[in-house]
Amino acid sequence: CGIVGYIGDDQAAPFLLSGLEKLEYRGYDSAGVAVYNGTSLQVVKAKGRLKILSDMINGGKDVLGTVGIGHTRWATHGKPSDINSHPQVSDSGKFAVVHNGIIENYLALKDLLIQKGINFVSETDTEVVAQLLEYYYKGDILDAVIKVINKVEGSYALGIICEDNPDQIIAVRKDSPLIVGLGKGENFIASDIPAILSKTRDIYRLNDNEIAILKKESVMIYNTDKEIIPKEPCHIDWDI
Ligand code: GLU
Repeated sequence: CGIVGYIGDDQAAPFLLSGLEKLEYRGYDSAGVAVYNGTSLQVVKAKGRLKILSDMINGGKDVLGTVGIGHTRWATHGKPSDINSHPQVSDSGKFAVVHNGIIENYLALKDLLIQKGINFVSETDTEVVAQLLEYYYKGDILDAVIKVINKVEGSYALGIICEDNPDQIIAVRKDSPLIVGLGKGENFIASDIPAILSKTRDIYRLNDNEIAILKKESVMIYNTDKEIIPKEPCHIDWDI
């Protein structure tokens, strides 16, 4: 399973596919991407090998946009299927989320949201995160993310994009790996270093529940009290 994300001036989809390929060693049963195309989030995902996804989007050329997230899934909750593949999206399509890990209390949260009239389409624990984000979102994405991580229990590496804030990717992790790659005029997220080594060797390692907001020109890290966390980049000096 794996996560990649890109924000910059280049096309996101080809990089997302190549990054996911570098994470194939981690194992997976489905794959998908979400890219902001200038007006909305375009989500393409499918059960099966990465090649299936890649063929569906012509190697990335059919999904245009410079901000995106990608995922390979190792199903834990909900069988491998197109609908259960990630990215999972919220009811209105405003939020797209990729997730590695397990949301232990997803059933209770799902019941609660269903009672509020929210419509679920997948069997995954991850969809709860996408729906909760939209439920809590009142204009400040960091506020919404903090509310969500205060509610969910379990393990997660999350990559999040929101149609209303298409100039940023949000990343947060707990007990699941996720790094931030630092480029020039572009930034990245990934489950593991090989996915971004072709682009940068400077990374931030995120501690549990540190929230990274990636923009093209900057990366800011916050704690769950919305305080800025100062961080020193690590330089990777090994080859693969
Ligand atoms: N628990 C999530 C699911 O089953 C994520 C699995 C993963 O880590 O790929 O969809």
